[in-house]
Amino acid sequence: MRFSVNQHVNEEIKEELYKHLDDVSTDANNTYLIQVDQWRAREHNSFSVNPVFVEFYDNNNLLIDKSPNLKNSNLSLLENSKNNLFVDTKLNGIPIRQIQTPIINKNKIVGYLVVAMSLEDFEIVQILKNILLISYPLILILLYLFARFFAGRSIIPVSTIIDTSRKITKDNLKTRIPLPNNKDELFALSQTINNLLDRVENAIEREKQFTSDASHELRTPLAVIKGTMEVLIRKPRNQHEYEEKIQFCISEVDRLNHMVDQLLLLARFENQKQNIKKESIYLNAIVLDNLTRFSDKIEQKKLKVITSFNNDDYYIDSDNYLISIIFSNLISNAIKYSKNETEISIKLFNDKDSISFSVADNGIGIATNDIDKIFTSFYRSDVTNHSEIKGTGLGLSIVKRLCDLLKIEITLTSEIDKGTTFVLKFPEVNLK
Ligand code: ADP
Repeated sequence: MRFSVNQHVNEEIKEELYKHLDDVSTDANNTYLIQVDQWRAREHNSFSVNPVFVEFYDNNNLLIDKSPNLKNSNLSLLENSKNNLFVDTKLNGIPIRQIQTPIINKNKIVGYLVVAMSLEDFEIVQILKNILLISYPLILILLYLFARFFAGRSIIPVSTIIDTSRKITKDNLKTRIPLPNNKDELFALSQTINNLLDRVENAIEREKQFTSDASHELRTPLAVIKGTMEVLIRKPRNQHEYEEKIQFCISEVDRLNHMVDQLLLLARFENQKQNIKKESIYLNAIVLDNLTRFSDKIEQKKLKVITSFNNDDYYIDSDNYLISIIFSNLISNAIKYSKNETEISIKLFNDKDSISFSVADNGIGIATNDIDKIFTSFYRSDVTNHSEIKGTGLGLSIVKRLCDLLKIEITLTSEIDKGTTFVLKFPEVNLK
């Protein structure tokens, strides 16, 4: 800026100099004349922001004329070595820049023209420089402090998240991150972390519950077996008594075995480690296979099983082994909870754009309040009223987990003492 103002001032002074040189003419006596009226008129007419001072000298360095704006003051004529050079000096204390040029006629200096311009405006550059020198670092410092302050404030919720997260351990999952007042990204982050903690807490709670239920359920038959054996060896028994008690123990061991199998199955599906092997499976065959497997029990209870496949073959793309586990659990439950000499109806049918499977029994039914709970591990509805029906409470939780895994929709309707109907709706149709 300094450079450009400097240039500008110099150019203006030069322009003035050339203009005023035009007002000079020389006569035969080697004296020069100023066309006074002409240059004064110009001096008054022309508009200039910076005042321009002009003086004419003769060759004896005597002042001939000067611009009226000089009033009583005078510019000083400098030695010849300063001719045609810009010189910064002062006029009445005001900084000015002046240039003097000799007026030459026939190679002789006949006088001098001095033009000067005030540099007062130029001072602004210096002031500006000073302002910038002081204000720029000051603004930078202020900006730094403001930025630190506001960044610090906006980072408080992040620090809270870090502090709270540090406090959360496996044994202290109840703590939650306090939600910030502003509903910004940090609010969403805190909320998401809190939701995640809710889920983790629930999962750990469920796991604890499952472990305690599992150990309780495993210990019960063991206690029963131990008790029976202890009673048996207290005194000598007859053959029949031994056979009866040992038979009872074997049935308890079977139950235990069955429960361990089911627990292992659940543990496998819990981690979703079970790979789904998708293939085209023939549902009719799976139903019939299961009925064959349970034929003894069906006969024992004198049940009438009606299968209805609409003379159609139903195929789906799914995992044969897992579908078989689902069917076997639902069919065995229908048999187990049916009253003697009743009917069980098993259907495969097209429901809108998908295939459905239903199994309906005329059994003991499930109380409306219990319908939501029967898929929970170890939950058994109405156990005291039907102590003769043995079970683990794990079958339906396995069914539920597998249905979720295979994206099968499971619904049930039940009426106490009338019967229960389970319906499975498979996700895809692959009719053949
Ligand atoms: P369980 O080994 O007890 O049969 P499940 O998980 O298969 O375990 O079933 C859970 C509970 O749901 C059962 O204890 C029973 O009360 C109820 N339930 C399941 N299926 C039927 C059904 N077809 N009729 C009546 N109750 C049923």
